[in-house]
Amino acid sequence: MTEATQTSKALTHNFVTVPRKSPNGPTNLVGLTRVDLREVLIENGTPEKQANMRVSQIWQWIYEKGVRDFDQMTNLAKPYRENLKKSFQISVPEIITKNVSEDGTRKYLMRINGGHEIETVYIPEENRGTLCISSQVGCTLTCSFCHTGTQRLVRNLSSSEIVGQILVARDDLGEWPIQGLPKNETRLLSNVVLMGMGEPLYNFENVRDAMKITMDPEGISLSRRRITLSTSGVVPEISKTAEEIGCQLAISFHATTDEIRNKLVPINKKWNIAQLLETLKSYPKVSNSERITFEYVMLKGVNDSDEDARRLVQLIKGIPAKINLIPFNEWPGSPFERSDWKQIKSFADIIYKAGYASPIRTPRGEDIMAACGQLKSASEKKRKSKKDAVPYT
Ligand code: SAH
Ligand code: SF4
Repeated sequence: MTEATQTSKALTHNFVTVPRKSPNGPTNLVGLTRVDLREVLIENGTPEKQANMRVSQIWQWIYEKGVRDFDQMTNLAKPYRENLKKSFQISVPEIITKNVSEDGTRKYLMRINGGHEIETVYIPEENRGTLCISSQVGCTLTCSFCHTGTQRLVRNLSSSEIVGQILVARDDLGEWPIQGLPKNETRLLSNVVLMGMGEPLYNFENVRDAMKITMDPEGISLSRRRITLSTSGVVPEISKTAEEIGCQLAISFHATTDEIRNKLVPINKKWNIAQLLETLKSYPKVSNSERITFEYVMLKGVNDSDEDARRLVQLIKGIPAKINLIPFNEWPGSPFERSDWKQIKSFADIIYKAGYASPIRTPRGEDIMAACGQLKSASEKKRKSKKDAVPYT
């Protein structure tokens, strides 16, 4: 076993998480839930009777209007603002570079506390714009087809760093209207997917708090139907996701036998296909969502046979589902090849005929290594892409 895998195993259940309240220096208000925000304001001298109103006001400035400076919070009295300035800050990740693909996809490399780096990808489509956000720096899991999986986990992101990615993307898109945000369907950033770096269900509480903030109607106000959390299958956290977040769920399924899934998605050795499917059965009802998305990466000669397609249909029987077929995105040194187009079509056809939607995901932002599974913030890759990165000013 290499040193890297030993370390990542040891870290699996013992992540380093940035504390919510900073022990030294001003506390960051971004990422605090309403309850926590109320608490820190009261601790800082806000009278309890006023606290709910202050929470609302500050909340709207930060999440609805995109303000980062207490002086711009003009409905707060000046002495109150001065007091806030002494104890708090409103801080978000910093964009280091931004790459724009030929297809309009934007990939941001962002710096967070401790000098760590994460990647966030914005994907514009005809009638929506999706932001793919990260939940961890690296990933402890080691799915063999995923670039992020080759990067050892550094740490969990705080709720502030998770929701901060949305705020920063909105800055870059220029989407902070003076008078409230437009309706979801007319926004540039209308959907969020937790499909960037990391396994969101190994950072459950921070992801939950960040998504609660994202859904809050007084702020960013994205409906839970516009948020999709993708997991490799952390079974015990799936029912909690239904109860406590209630967003759409995507499962990185990728294989139809335990033998192959153990190799592709090693978490399967802990919770196998049968256990995963059992948990999924109750998700739509508890979360009140229509269906679960099964993500299936198409790897030539590994998991892409017609027989696999038929087995997949049998396995998911009884679960309202859509199957998203993802042509494998290559990365330097990747041990797999993308399935032939003809085989992807044949696989999709079998699923479609069994009554399930089976869209084939068009790879986006491949030219800037922004497609699914290509994210990795290791310095070796940074050096490689430096020449075509646009410094962010
Ligand atoms: N850790 C979570 C979310 C991040 S990965 C998860 O695994 O679900 C987002 C999606 O991209 C997952 O479905 C993942 O399996 C897929 N993916 C990873 N590497 C890929 C690659 N090289 N090509 C295509 N899809 C990939
Ligand atoms: Fe981690 Fe998801 Fe990549 Fe697996 S596919 S290594 S869980 S980011």
